[in-house]
Amino acid sequence: KTRVYKFGNNFADGNSKMKNLLGGKGANLAEMSAIGIPVPPGFTITTEVCTEYNLLGKDKVVDLIKTEIEEAIFNIESLMGSKFGDKDNPLLISVRSGARVSMPGMMDTVLNLGLNDDVIIGLATKTGNERFAWDSYRRFIQMYGDVVLGMKSESKEDIDPFEEIMEHLKDKRGIKLDTEFSVQDLKDLVYDFKDAVKKRTGHDFPTDPWEQLWGAVIAVFNSWNGDRAVYYRNMHGYPADWGTAVNVQAMVYGNMGDNSGTGVCFTRDAGTGEDVFNGEYLINAQGEDVVAGTRTPQQITKLGSLRWAELAKVEEAERAENYPSLEELMPEIFKELNGYQEKLEKHYKDMQDMEFTMQDGKLWILQTRNGKRTGAAMVKIAMDMFKQSLISEKEALLRIEPSKLDELLHPVFDPKALKKANVIAQGLPASPGAATGQLVFFADEANKYKYTILTRIETSPEDLEGMNIARGILTARGGMTSHAAVVARGMGKCCISGAGALTINYKTRTLKVDGKEYHEGDWISLNGSTGNIIEGKVATSEPELSGEFAEIMKLSDKYATMQVRTNADTPKDAKIARSFGAQGIGLTRTEHMFFEVDRIKAMREMILADTVKGRKHALEDLLPMQRSDFEGIFEAMQGLPVTVRLLDPPLHEFVPHQLETQRSLAEDMHITLEAVKIKVAELEEFNPMLGHRGCRLGITYPEITEMQTRAVIEAALNLKEKGIVAKPEIMVPLVGTLAEFESQEAVIRETANKVFEERNDRIEFLIGTMIEIPRAALIANKIAKYADFFSFGTNDLTQMAFGYSRDDAGKFLPIYIEKGILKVDPFEVLDQEGVGQLVEMATQLGRSEKPNLKVGICGEHGGDPSSVEFCYRTGLNYVSCSPYRVPIARLASAQAAI
Ligand code: ADP
Ligand code: MG
Ligand code: MG
Repeated sequence: KTRVYKFGNNFADGNSKMKNLLGGKGANLAEMSAIGIPVPPGFTITTEVCTEYNLLGKDKVVDLIKTEIEEAIFNIESLMGSKFGDKDNPLLISVRSGARVSMPGMMDTVLNLGLNDDVIIGLATKTGNERFAWDSYRRFIQMYGDVVLGMKSESKEDIDPFEEIMEHLKDKRGIKLDTEFSVQDLKDLVYDFKDAVKKRTGHDFPTDPWEQLWGAVIAVFNSWNGDRAVYYRNMHGYPADWGTAVNVQAMVYGNMGDNSGTGVCFTRDAGTGEDVFNGEYLINAQGEDVVAGTRTPQQITKLGSLRWAELAKVEEAERAENYPSLEELMPEIFKELNGYQEKLEKHYKDMQDMEFTMQDGKLWILQTRNGKRTGAAMVKIAMDMFKQSLISEKEALLRIEPSKLDELLHPVFDPKALKKANVIAQGLPASPGAATGQLVFFADEANKYKYTILTRIETSPEDLEGMNIARGILTARGGMTSHAAVVARGMGKCCISGAGALTINYKTRTLKVDGKEYHEGDWISLNGSTGNIIEGKVATSEPELSGEFAEIMKLSDKYATMQVRTNADTPKDAKIARSFGAQGIGLTRTEHMFFEVDRIKAMREMILADTVKGRKHALEDLLPMQRSDFEGIFEAMQGLPVTVRLLDPPLHEFVPHQLETQRSLAEDMHITLEAVKIKVAELEEFNPMLGHRGCRLGITYPEITEMQTRAVIEAALNLKEKGIVAKPEIMVPLVGTLAEFESQEAVIRETANKVFEERNDRIEFLIGTMIEIPRAALIANKIAKYADFFSFGTNDLTQMAFGYSRDDAGKFLPIYIEKGILKVDPFEVLDQEGVGQLVEMATQLGRSEKPNLKVGICGEHGGDPSSVEFCYRTGLNYVSCSPYRVPIARLASAQAAI
């Protein structure tokens, strides 16, 4: 078996398809070499060798690959006309790590490997450039010392001992830049560096080039199991046996003087997606100098340079003199580079992120890969490439990462402002977007300032109105499906939940974090996409739904077979969702309508009533409000189906808990405060999520179901009179037994018939149920006999299948994920292995009874791409998700079908 793959001089053993074996970097180096791009010759040690190393250890692995490596080095030597370790005509090499996917935590690259006190003389003589030679030597000792000999500790606070020595010397010389060191300075640095190595490690710096090479190769393998890499791997679920490849390559020198340099470039704009070649370079520089930020890099193109000067407020004369573009400074090299970027983009059919170096007027390409990009750029590039006939329609759709569309759907922070931001804590990125506002701690004070951040230990349905008013929502407790998170996502409102580091004191109206106190009215900013909580104001920019975005959505609908509905409780949400292309409403939570100030009173009176008569009286007040809500929603949906769920939450959530509100309610109802308190206490439950809620309410108080049914049917009839079609689907929540469903179905049907008689008119409507209790999934065939449709309430189904209380899981789920007990939060990503089985089974059982049973999902998972794919495979008719996730689900549905 081959363990070492060579490349160079328009030839390669490997190619770009071999990423698993050669790593991303190695596979692309091979491909570039094969298609005639000038890459310095070299070779790649396969990822399999990394795995072998982990099993066999250093000595055995060196034995395994020694001959192949010697041969491969010899190949580089003959192509470059120089010799590894030779005193007169030395070949230097770089050792680069490279896993299948680019990964932080992997070993940094070592450049200029092969130098020692003898070789350095040869390098200086051969090139006639002493300064360059010693600059390379000091870089080598620094890099090798840091990454192979462990001179740099993992902790962020420690400074690199080599940097310390350099800073010291710069102070002594009164200079600022590395480029200002004299040859003698560089020699002193090399000496001091080696001294520091001896002091810290107890060993001399290795002088034998082969020993250096093996040291670096083994260090790359070891870095695969380093703490940072393991952490990152676990986070993304990358298995340990992937391993990393090692790339060894002849050095080319960008630090040889004014006719040399190094840079990075992109074939298109990674921020906006604009089809313009762009990038940065530095003259007389090596490796990471461009990204290190010590010198101001120059732009590749003249256009880029002009744009840069405008932003940096640099005068044209100054720009042309000190910061000319590569296009202006080295037109020949620029032309060649431009040719390669065009060739590579055409070849890979994707935006490329490239590294290059010019050595004394000769251009070399050192890396290419598909470039990372923003959501906006992703959409534009995919659509542009389709129009440019580079990729097909289907390919364009598959290029879009559904979850990244989220960025396009919420206001965002200005990236430049974010760089300067002071992050004070982090929570869960519960609902993306950007929000800046003044701290308030009570929902009814959300309008105290123009822009507020509602900050709560946790939120409850009582806070709904305040949440709607606030710019952003911050909670100290609760997970990704906590009340705050779910509601915020529905509203498309930025929210960070479960920020455990915050201590919130309602009494003093303060927020404490890390010993620092923030008061009501202080400005803070939330980055809902990262979970970062930032001190003060951060500038935001409004999202733009560009033309390409709309085009991608149109393409999605061409391929999607499974429909996408939305969860919407108000006409406003319904309209937003329709504008995003929702094909119906999969869930209207009727209880949310009751939380508005004037309604909650009637609701409370209903709950507190002691008699059926009293209850009916209060319900009569609620009926017109509910009816007009439904009219608004039906009208917004214009003939698309609307699933209305009957009252679901435990009644306790509706009653007042503060003394003040209890008192005023007592007054309104002409009863004593004591009576209110007793009733509130009566309603309290040990385990409300498994308590008196869902259809259990409708069974104990059928008059509630009657009123809600009446509101739905009357609203639909009223619209019919106006010539608008309404397609209500009434849904019974939390059904576990057939009898529960039958009893509610009877009430609904009777009420509907009564209304039809009264109005002497009728409409079509469906009666179905949520499948959210595991028992319902088990007897789904029986329920299907009577139900017109199923909708999987996967939030509750997950909660009950796992036995994890949604509202308490925030305490242990993060630890579970950290320890790898769970890969992901099952409330975010549907657990296909377990909960998914319930979904599959219930769908099959249901359809075995009723082949055309309509089946959908309305849990939070309806907007998660991998869950959408699962729903497609399971044969669901639709997924339903919050309005702002509709485009994501539409794309995911199309991708599933392609
Ligand atoms: P990373 O994966 O962090 O980008 P790289 O292996 O690409 O690390 O290398 C780091 C830097 O060193 C890059 O700027 C790269 O272009 C440069 N480099 C790597 N190998 C060579 C080489 N043989 N000659 C010149 N520069 C090199
Ligand atoms: Mg690189
Ligand atoms: Mg439920």
